[in-house]
Amino acid sequence: MSGPVPLRADLRTLSGYHSAQVDVAVRLNTNESPFAPPEAWLDELREAMGQIPFNRYPDRTALGLRSALATHHGVLAGQVFCGTGSNEVLQCLLLAYGGAGRAVATFEPSYTLHRHIAEVTATSVVSVPRTADFVLDLDEVDELMERARPTITFVCSPNNPTGRAEDLTTISHLLEVAPGLVVVDEAYGQFARTSALDLVREGASGTERLVVVRTFSKTFSMAGLRLGYMVADPAVVAGCEVVVLPYNVGSVSQVAGRLALRHSEVVEQRVQQLVAERSRVEAALAALAVTSWPSDANFVLFRPDHKPATKVWQGLLEHSVLIRDCSGWPGLHECLRVTIGTPYENDRFLEALTAVLGKDMAP
Ligand code: PMP
Repeated sequence: MSGPVPLRADLRTLSGYHSAQVDVAVRLNTNESPFAPPEAWLDELREAMGQIPFNRYPDRTALGLRSALATHHGVLAGQVFCGTGSNEVLQCLLLAYGGAGRAVATFEPSYTLHRHIAEVTATSVVSVPRTADFVLDLDEVDELMERARPTITFVCSPNNPTGRAEDLTTISHLLEVAPGLVVVDEAYGQFARTSALDLVREGASGTERLVVVRTFSKTFSMAGLRLGYMVADPAVVAGCEVVVLPYNVGSVSQVAGRLALRHSEVVEQRVQQLVAERSRVEAALAALAVTSWPSDANFVLFRPDHKPATKVWQGLLEHSVLIRDCSGWPGLHECLRVTIGTPYENDRFLEALTAVLGKDMAP
């Protein structure tokens, strides 16, 4: 046979993950922290890097980092598993507990990578829609669990891209009715009032099947380093250790994560600052007669009712403001998502939006 090798048949309709990376003055499209990491952390990291034996592989078990995370969350190191970004943790969960002949459940619209990684790992995806407020519809949940018996149920809370967090009573309900793992993706967990980590700490009923996934990418200002983790039952940690590549978390990331936890107070102040900015942006959107949904995260989903969303997105780009165009995603007709940035960035976004909405923009 000659010519290009065909891609696996089940991957041919898929495409990779795409979020525009263009050179703009104000980047509010990927929910990162707008702040550089704390200066003191950078100093400590520079110093620690001088001690790293770079000719050696990193600690394969990442024990120092896992122990620091365990202390931070009040759990045991054996309950913590780290990855190169939380996306790698999600991938490990799917490799270990998904796969051919198994199903994962998602509640749409939600974080598209859950579905994508499931498809890449040949796991079938079963989904039901969220309510009009974009939270879980418990009747739909019950019916889906009964019908599909998924080995993993993904709940993104706060949900990307819609913003709301689920009540802990909903997570407890899921633990009762879901037959497999309940994976709560808390990439934006620090912005919400509650966390499923409380259920883990309490050892509440069913928590041996509860997995809480978190990341250093957002509030810790470390998206460029790629570090994420999960807190779960030690048996689930052991399952992920079977599939993960050796030395998946590099020496720099391990020490960077450990040091970052020492600066949690600064991080918490920044979270409060972003939450205050979020309220300001929400109020400004309301004043512009734009529909928006309440958010427990560092972004806001909105719909510019009188102008086509894609034209608004393009108009903002012409003002050098980049946000996320979700208008083509199922269940998000005409919706856009803006990340909360610094007060200056948010002002630039609001000014540009005011200008774009004010212009006559025939569809
Ligand atoms: N989960 C959710 C819900 C996210 O929005 C993101 C980032 N977009 C991630 C996981 C992945 O984050 P990272 O791999 O940077 O930890």
